Amino acid sequence: MAIIELDRLSKAFGGVNAVRSLDLTTEDGEFVVLVGPSGCGKTTTMRMIAGLEGASGGAIRIDGQDVTDMGPTDRDVAMVFQNYALYPHLTVYENMAFCLRVRRWSKARIDEQVHRTAKALGIDELLQRKPAALSGGQRQRVALGRAIVREPRVFLMDEPLSNLDAKLRIEMRAEIVKLCRRLKVTTFYVTHDQLEALTMGHRIVVMQGGVAQQIDTPQKIYDEPANRFVAGFIGSPPMNFLDAGRTEGGATLQGPGFRLRAGPRVTAALREQAGPVVAGIRPEHLRPAEGPDGAAEGPDGAAGSITGRIEIVEPLGSQVMIQIATDSGLVTAQFERRDGLAVGNPITLAQTPDMLHVFDATSGRSVL
Ligand code: ATP
Repeated sequence: MAIIELDRLSKAFGGVNAVRSLDLTTEDGEFVVLVGPSGCGKTTTMRMIAGLEGASGGAIRIDGQDVTDMGPTDRDVAMVFQNYALYPHLTVYENMAFCLRVRRWSKARIDEQVHRTAKALGIDELLQRKPAALSGGQRQRVALGRAIVREPRVFLMDEPLSNLDAKLRIEMRAEIVKLCRRLKVTTFYVTHDQLEALTMGHRIVVMQGGVAQQIDTPQKIYDEPANRFVAGFIGSPPMNFLDAGRTEGGATLQGPGFRLRAGPRVTAALREQAGPVVAGIRPEHLRPAEGPDGAAEGPDGAAGSITGRIEIVEPLGSQVMIQIATDSGLVTAQFERRDGLAVGNPITLAQTPDMLHVFDATSGRSVL
C-alpha cells in the first residue's frame, strides 16, 4: 500500500506539452483511473510514475519519499501494458518467478509466492504451460500475476484489456477491481473507454490536452461535470448540447425547438452568470412527453420539452435510442422501449428539470 503524490507534474516533448501541472494525491490502496481521448497524456503520466520517462517539472512522491529522479527499479512500481510482453519461451511459472529470481529470493519462497499469486488469479492450473498455449484472457491474467507477484507498492496498468473481446473485458474489469481491493495496492489504470472508467475507478482523472479537466468520483463526474468537455466525454450516448437563450430569472432556457427547465441549484447559479450559455441534457433524461411516464413533470406540471421529427430509431433490448431533428440540430434520447416510434413522425420529448446542465458558452465551464 502506498500514497502517491503528483505535485504539478509536467512533461514537455520539444514543443508538445504532453502533461501540464498535474496535481493528485491518492489514498492508500486507491484505484485511480486516467481517462481521455488519444494523445491527452495518459501514457506519459504513467511512464513518469513508473520512472520510464523523466519529468520536465514538478515532483512524484511515494509515501512521502521524492522518487522523481529515481530509476524504475528503485521505485517498487509494477506496470502492465496492453501487449502483455510475456516471455514466450518460459512457462507461466517461470514468467512469474523471473523477477523474484532477479531479486535473489530463495527457491522455497519463490515457489510459495508464485503458487499463492497463481491461486488468487485462478491460473494455478496453467503454471506449466507456455504463453502460446493460453487464451487471451489467461495470458492477461498471467501478465497481471507477473506484475503483482512481487507485491509492489504501486500498480500501473495501461489499457490492459484492450486486446480482449467485449465479454472477457467485462469479466476482467470486475476481476481486476476485486484483486486490487483484496491486495490493497494503490493502482493507476489507463483507459480511453469512459464506461470502463465509470465502472472501475474510486476516482477518475479526466484528461484533455495534457490537463486534468476534473478529478472526482465516478458519480460526481457523471452528475456534476466540471465543464463541457467532461460532460461530453463521460456518458454514452453523449450529452446533447443546445445553445440557449434564457428567460428572466434564469429558470427556463430556450431556443429554436426547445424550452428546458432548470432545477433550483442551476437556477441560482444562473442568476450569478451573465453572458451566453449552453444547455446540456443527457439522452437518458429525455423521454416522450406523450407516454405512460410523460406526465410526471414536477409540481406545477410545467416540464421542459424539445420538439422535432424522429430521424433514427435504434432498439437496444429493453431500451430504445432515438435521434430527432430539431430546429436546434439533432437531439438523442434513450428511454424504455415503447410502441409507436416511427421515423418521420413528429415527437415532443419531456425533460426532468433537475437533470439539466448549463455551461458558459465561452469558457465551457459548468455554471454550478
Ligand atoms: P493514447 O490513448 O493514444 O495512448 P495518451 O493519452 O496515452 O494517448 P500520450 O501517449 O501520453 O497520450 O501522449 C501525449 C502527447 O505527447 C501526444 O501529443 C504525443 O504525441 C506526445 N508524445 C508522447 N510521447 C512522445 C515522445 N516520446 N516524443 C514526442 N512526443 C511524444
